Amino acid sequence: MKKLPVKKADIILAAFLCLAAFLLLLVGGIQGRHQDALWVRGYLDGKCVCEYPIDCDIKTTIRTPDQNGSNVLVIDQKKVYIASADCPGQDCVKMGIITKSGEELICLPHKLVIRIEGGDNAIDAISQ
Ligand SMILES: [Zn+2]
Repeated sequence: MKKLPVKKADIILAAFLCLAAFLLLLVGGIQGRHQDALWVRGYLDGKCVCEYPIDCDIKTTIRTPDQNGSNVLVIDQKKVYIASADCPGQDCVKMGIITKSGEELICLPHKLVIRIEGGDNAIDAISQ
């Protein structure tokens, strides 16, 4: 006499473990793709003045000597925004949060551009 019910349970368990392992691999693969290095770079009058990896949580003040101004840049859990600035209009603060490669925060009065670079997007290659 064979003990069929036990064997069936073993097969189901093995199949379940295989599926679980497969799903773990799949999720791991997707997360790996998202971890392409992204950088947050600050440009003052076209010159790169600072850069930070997007996964560092910082709050820093970028000074713009020519305009005697300052912008407070925040990177918080891969969200990038300007928390405060002393420019007229506060457009850069109102621009809100950027998270993706190629997105920019621009402070026109201070000639300051905060841009997320790297990852899959190669935006620079397109511009002529
Ligand atoms: Zn501004």
